[in-house]
Amino acid sequence: MKPVEPAIARLAALAQEQEAPRLDEGTVLLVDDDGIVRMLTAAGLAERGWRVIEADCGARALELFERERPQVIALDAVMPDPDGFAICERLRRLPGGAHVPVVMLTGLDDEQSIGRAYDAGATDFFVKTPGRWTLLSQRLRYLTRSSRVREELARSQAELLKLANFDALTALPNRRHFHEIFGDELQRARARDTRLGLLLVGVNRFRQINDSLGPRAGDQLLLEISRRLIEALRRDDATSRPRVVARVGGDEFALLLPDLKSEAELDRVAARALDVFQQPFPVDGQELFITTSIGAVVFPADGDEVDALLGRSDLAMRAIEEQGGSGCLRYTERMNTTRRAHWKLESDLHRAIGLQQLRLLYQPKIDAATGRIVGAEALMRWQRDAELVSPAVFIPAAEDSGLIVPITEWALGEACRQLDAWHRAGLGRIPVSVNISGFHLQRGNLTAPVKACMQAFGISPGLLELEITETAMMRNLDVVLPQLRALKALGVVLSIDDFGTGYSSLAYLKRLPIDILKIDRSFVGELETSRDSAALVAAIMAMGQGLKLDVVAEGVETPAQMQRLADRGCRFMQGFLFSRPVPPDQFAQLLAQGSRSDWCASAGQCPPPADGGEGSDR
Ligand code: C2E
Ligand code: MG
Ligand code: MG
Repeated sequence: MKPVEPAIARLAALAQEQEAPRLDEGTVLLVDDDGIVRMLTAAGLAERGWRVIEADCGARALELFERERPQVIALDAVMPDPDGFAICERLRRLPGGAHVPVVMLTGLDDEQSIGRAYDAGATDFFVKTPGRWTLLSQRLRYLTRSSRVREELARSQAELLKLANFDALTALPNRRHFHEIFGDELQRARARDTRLGLLLVGVNRFRQINDSLGPRAGDQLLLEISRRLIEALRRDDATSRPRVVARVGGDEFALLLPDLKSEAELDRVAARALDVFQQPFPVDGQELFITTSIGAVVFPADGDEVDALLGRSDLAMRAIEEQGGSGCLRYTERMNTTRRAHWKLESDLHRAIGLQQLRLLYQPKIDAATGRIVGAEALMRWQRDAELVSPAVFIPAAEDSGLIVPITEWALGEACRQLDAWHRAGLGRIPVSVNISGFHLQRGNLTAPVKACMQAFGISPGLLELEITETAMMRNLDVVLPQLRALKALGVVLSIDDFGTGYSSLAYLKRLPIDILKIDRSFVGELETSRDSAALVAAIMAMGQGLKLDVVAEGVETPAQMQRLADRGCRFMQGFLFSRPVPPDQFAQLLAQGSRSDWCASAGQCPPPADGGEGSDR
């Protein structure tokens, strides 16, 4: 036994812990075959807040490392076989051992052993000097901290990489990452002269589902779809390259098929993907039936760049969606031509406002009891050079491109200006209605422009009416309802257009601050032929009465239709029987005619034709 000085004995006693040092520096594994040196070092470190675990040989050191996972290792270089250098090398190969800081304790302050320590994978070295525990402790502390920082950095880098590349909900590659994968696979396919298939899978009506059931249910649905798609791909025959499922949009998944052997393989996988949607999806305690639109492209036949192929699969997907969905369509060149024509339409429409190519025609609404005009509906036309474009064509394009907002604002201003002009011309004040697109309503910015137009032309309450289709009103009540209330507060009259085509219930209608129901013209057209339509008109009349709403019948073309409507208590009508939509000056002439007996249903008490009208004698 070596002589032990009293000071050393005191330190050793401390190591046996009587003062319970603060062990907040972490755990150090101290490896030294020399019992005394080990004890002294352990005591010195324990006094400085380290929890020290000790090993006297390599085998024990490796065992303790695996069991205790120390934050740092202090390793004596000179030991009987294996020496510190060999132990360090072995440690580095253990799971979790690659990055733990290792300080080689050496008595030999020479270049060679320092070099050996680094070669063996040591992080640092420390020349053993009895009593310099503070220095050693600080060195260990510095190393553990920097290792911790490095670890955290690596963790957050991995996390960031994951966030940047993978969808948080489904854990599938996101659009960005898919772009990279797709690019790599394309390069491979080019080099090896192989084919590559891409299926773009869109979930039809996902937005409506999300809106009506809430985002949690939407998430549930997407998760289940991704699970089934992965399984559908896996079920297929083994291929040389792994197939990839990615989430490339809110409601879009991409299936990438490298090394595509044949068109038949593409069809087979597409059929599997379609199959995924055959079974209902359990969402929020109910079973949902979902349809899908799948667009398919093949490299090199349909394009040879990532963007072109993705864009074309999107065109094919939208083409099937427009056909009503559920199915798979392979991209064709014609889809591109149609899309280009659409873009051209959009860009021309952009200029239409500036070029003053938009016009409003006015169609009278009449009171079949008096034969008088009681209002006008403003209907837009686009004079695209020599061609007069119907709103059925350009309104959807305006909605797609967002142009609907400036176009509607123009229509509101123009209708108010016209209203004021007729009034100034002594033609009285009749309400004018403007059609509002559902898209505009969903954007939630309608009140300000309406207010501005009304103020600019001094429009009194009750004179400006907005027609909003039933389906547009029904979607997203959270956004719609506050706007409708704000519009009502401005004195705007609200009517539901094309009523009867949606599925509004009475309870639902009661919540809306509306004034008028406009019966869809399809029911009016079938009044004489379809019992259902006649019953529906009667039901709408009853609804209107119950809710104290005016009812206007659209699309009245024959005196018989007018009569049937009047018999069912419908007084207000609009249709070609009375007048087509006409330019403002012709509408002024109609207004000047006053009441007309040929616009009266027999149930009404029509006055004799008024002045200005044909055969007028009043
Ligand atoms: P809507 O609001 O339901 O307008 C009634 C449509 O029925 C008009 O077609 C009108 O010309 C037509 N019509 C009127 N009476 C008869 C009839 O007796 N028989 C037949 N067969 N049709 C009749 P138009 O002008 O082509 O407008 C079509 C749709 O385009 C409108 O349906 C409306 O939804 C939309 N629209 C028109 N102008 C605008 C506008 O300024 N803004 C917006 N957002 N949409 C508009
Ligand atoms: Mg309308
Ligand atoms: Mg309508």
